[in-house]
Amino acid sequence: LELPIHDAVLGEARAYGETEALIDGLTGATLTYAGLDTAHRRIAAGLAESGLGKGDVLALHSPNTLAFPAVFYAATRAGAAVTTVHPLSTPDEFAKQLRDSGASWIVTVSPLLDVARAAAELAGRVREIIVCDETDQTDQTGQSGQSGQTGQSGQSGQTDRSAGHRSVRELAASTAPEPHVDLDPARDLAVLPYSSGTTGVPKGVMLTHRNIATNLAQLYPSMPIGRGERVLAVLPFFHIYGLTALVNAPLRHGATVVVLPRFDLDTFLAAIEKHRITALYVAPPIVLALAKHPKVAEYDLSSVRLVLSAAAPLDADLAAACARRLGLPAVIQGYGMTELSPCTHLVPLDEQHPPPGTVGRLVAGTEMRIVDLDDPARDLGPGERGEIVIRGPQVMKGYLGRPEATADMIDADGWLHTGDIGQVDAGGWLFVVDRVKELIKYKGFQVAPAELEALLLTHPAVADAAVIGVYDEDGTEIPKAFVVRQEQEQEQEQEQEQEQEQERAARLGAEEVVAYVAERVAPYKKIRRVEFVDGVPRALSGKILRRELRDRESADEEH
Ligand code: ATP
Ligand code: MG
Repeated sequence: LELPIHDAVLGEARAYGETEALIDGLTGATLTYAGLDTAHRRIAAGLAESGLGKGDVLALHSPNTLAFPAVFYAATRAGAAVTTVHPLSTPDEFAKQLRDSGASWIVTVSPLLDVARAAAELAGRVREIIVCDETDQTDQTGQSGQSGQTGQSGQSGQTDRSAGHRSVRELAASTAPEPHVDLDPARDLAVLPYSSGTTGVPKGVMLTHRNIATNLAQLYPSMPIGRGERVLAVLPFFHIYGLTALVNAPLRHGATVVVLPRFDLDTFLAAIEKHRITALYVAPPIVLALAKHPKVAEYDLSSVRLVLSAAAPLDADLAAACARRLGLPAVIQGYGMTELSPCTHLVPLDEQHPPPGTVGRLVAGTEMRIVDLDDPARDLGPGERGEIVIRGPQVMKGYLGRPEATADMIDADGWLHTGDIGQVDAGGWLFVVDRVKELIKYKGFQVAPAELEALLLTHPAVADAAVIGVYDEDGTEIPKAFVVRQEQEQEQEQEQEQEQEQERAARLGAEEVVAYVAERVAPYKKIRRVEFVDGVPRALSGKILRRELRDRESADEEH
């Protein structure tokens, strides 16, 4: 645990030798553990030679590729912290992150080079942009990629050398010695990810080597995914969930990671079948597809023994339907946040029958309290809802450049206030209810929108739903539902049965929505306004972007 992340993860890489560390799910190109170890050391030497060192920040701007982990560990080995950038960022968004994080190196991929260049110009502080293409890793060490199916060997030729952009391949060809940087795992930053920005502006989260490495050690006993396992990497590496579950954890224990650059159901299912995938780390929208989509039946998914969902609320019935379809005892959940490196709760892999809907039990070496929302000094007991508060070695060092935001979140005793509402049962299982910020205060009562959304989704004519608080004429905050009717999803379907169902669905009106909920909840939780919409704004993780709905509301009011 007192090792920097590259040593903590790749310490055994030599021993795993010719085992495949990474396989490109599209091209079949591979990188062995020995290849990964050599590659990241060579790239580290090149980066160090170009001036990157302790205290610097490197922006890694890339979709999931075979080369991503090598570049990541190379940068930390050179002493730098890596700020991971969403590959769909606009130049403006990217420039903001460059300025905020203080990054002065960019590693990008050819197709994103123009965006990176524009962002660098806007930010005006970047020393070097390096281009890293798929093939740069698979053949440059001569130890991997024997499969010869790299398929895109022309790509690195697109590098615009005239504008002074070097490729990772050139960098790795450096004869400079491997850097030996003295890092303090408890203080020095390994990763500077940005929170998702669901509730406000994304904030730079300072995670030390110790934060990340400890969390890996905490997760492994519950989730022993190692040699012989094949993990499908479809969630993005730039997010801390993907970086932990799909890069650091499996590579630390000799598993093989099959890499996909984006989610496409057919490619995803075909990759599971072809590579005999054993472990799937996903978010709720993928659980939904696995539970419901007819295509799922066309593939052999019998190799899968673990489906873990995190990042957003997962409906218990949906989880059960997905598990049944895959022949698993359960689809299990984890809970965490960027600020927690990222995980505090997990359902252990060997737990056959966790209570439905739980996000898991506390991982080792971590403390949790559930505290009163109005009086954080008051601890609540099992079955009582309050804010989830966490203390442990995975708690971030703070938000970069935001001492006030940090102090708001982490109190003087080191407790991090998650902003999430939860409750534990007598067996210690945690259930996440909603975010504190999203609570609707109806005449002194607290209404959790997530609870009403889950209920609305059980109505057969409701395809999707979101709830926010709006103000009525008297200035009282009331729950308003945005409802997507089932019919709209089926418009293209022509069959008779479907049409009948559509007719029934077409009758779904506001009164019925209100009545359906009123029959099932305490009176103060009633839905008091309904609007039918074509879709609910969601992040790819499945998180409802209630902020967007609120913005829409206030724009409407102004008119
Ligand atoms: P921001 O903090 O910028 O508004 P964000 O909180 O969405 O964005 P992340 O750190 O990616 O950014 O997400 C962490 C949040 O995700 C948690 O605080 C919690 O609300 C939610 N979450 C994570 N896992 C689960 C889960 N299993 N069930 C329900 N919600 C979850
Ligand atoms: Mg957050």
